[in-house]
Amino acid sequence: MPALTSDTLFTRALQLIPGGVNSPVRAFRSVGGAPFLVKAARGATLVTADDRELIDFVCTWGPAIHGHNHPVIKAAIAAALENGTSFGTPNPSEVEMAELITRFVPSIQKVRMCNSGTEATMSAIRLARGFTQRDKIIKFAGCYHGHSDSLLIKAGSGALTHGHPDSAGVPASFARETIVLPYNDAASLDAAFTANPGQIACVILEPYCGNVGFIMPDAGYLAAVRAVTAQHGALLIFDEVMTGFRLHKAGVQGLLNEELAATHPAASSSASGSELSALNAQLPFAPDLTCLGKIIGGGLPVGAFGGRSDIMDYLAPLGPVYQAGTLSGNPLAMAAGIAALRLLEDDGSGTSPYTRLDRLGRQLRDAVLAATRAKGIPAQVPQCGSMFSIFFTATPVRDYATALTGDAKLFARFFRACLARGVYLAPSAYEAGFISTAHEGPAIDRACEIMSQAIAEL
Ligand SMILES: *Cc1c(COP(=O)(O)O)cnc(C)c1O
Repeated sequence: MPALTSDTLFTRALQLIPGGVNSPVRAFRSVGGAPFLVKAARGATLVTADDRELIDFVCTWGPAIHGHNHPVIKAAIAAALENGTSFGTPNPSEVEMAELITRFVPSIQKVRMCNSGTEATMSAIRLARGFTQRDKIIKFAGCYHGHSDSLLIKAGSGALTHGHPDSAGVPASFARETIVLPYNDAASLDAAFTANPGQIACVILEPYCGNVGFIMPDAGYLAAVRAVTAQHGALLIFDEVMTGFRLHKAGVQGLLNEELAATHPAASSSASGSELSALNAQLPFAPDLTCLGKIIGGGLPVGAFGGRSDIMDYLAPLGPVYQAGTLSGNPLAMAAGIAALRLLEDDGSGTSPYTRLDRLGRQLRDAVLAATRAKGIPAQVPQCGSMFSIFFTATPVRDYATALTGDAKLFARFFRACLARGVYLAPSAYEAGFISTAHEGPAIDRACEIMSQAIAEL
């Protein structure tokens, strides 16, 4: 029997699965057409059900930093599989994973594994509320923190792409406990704390936004967020599900600490106010809690959240905040994640993957900027390391409102032109792009060529 094509399979999927997809961002609703089905992925390449090969800049929405089906990760999963798929008891690989995470990310003293980024953020919010005994939380427009009720408000790409900034089914009474503010605006954050004295449990944010396109913070913004949360006794939660291990071994907080150490060598011993914990006093910059996912699963379903020991010890069985998971710390997922993290320290190439990924990111950004300039199309291409976005707008993008100035129709045409030539970008004007180490060499050169051609013909 001949293999079914993408179109035949997707028609069937539409009858059996809502919208034909198991996560709405996979649908092509905002770029037009039907999604292709992928039957295999290796390195920088996706192979569709129709045997088309595509250079992939979605990287399974972030996890595949080493490229698809990396032989070391595959071998680690195969080795773990020999011993069984799930034990329902503590297992040795969980301890190894916890050791790796706490070593990579110094602000994490204790960590709890779960099964997705959504679980990580949802649990971190509950923990922050339990620890502070306060109910309100602050999030920022365009930041996505998974799909739990309190966080699914102005949550960026997935909802935005389909024209519903907020989800139906979230009770108004829940939404009232979530204050939504503009990102990159320290004054509005100050004002929210003043207007809600003693009521705010935590501020959660993507330190670099990746779910409304890629947006970086203004200089000093994250330090201001840290200062105001500490001043008001609210916890600061960094949602590094996307940025964790992607931009730096220690996430955005690692980048910030390197910057601070370079500019103020004394900061680490003196900067913190009396409100900050002993831990925060040791690091120039430390959130109270950090959420992780994506890369730590090495392509299998994993999430984690961690931070100060005194806060983490509020979790059951030690403390009153309940959180659990039948498959949490799953040995196959731990094996894949541990292998992925170890490769970030040393993938045998002799140069840090982050240095090489940044080179690829700059090459792509420069190519797109040159092509748009030549064509006379206004564009913003924010890029840091292996994350980037292409906004077709003359307005510098620094928050949700400015992201929306991007020309989504032009993006859709650009997306289709790239896809027709063999480059797969995320099917939405409001998503970040991801590069892997497997893009080094011919893939990145070819992709830059294709994207430049696509722009020239817009
Ligand atoms: C992907 C993502 C999540 C949700 O993770 P899932 O594993 O999809 O539940 C949460 N926060 C951020 C910043 C993300 O990018």
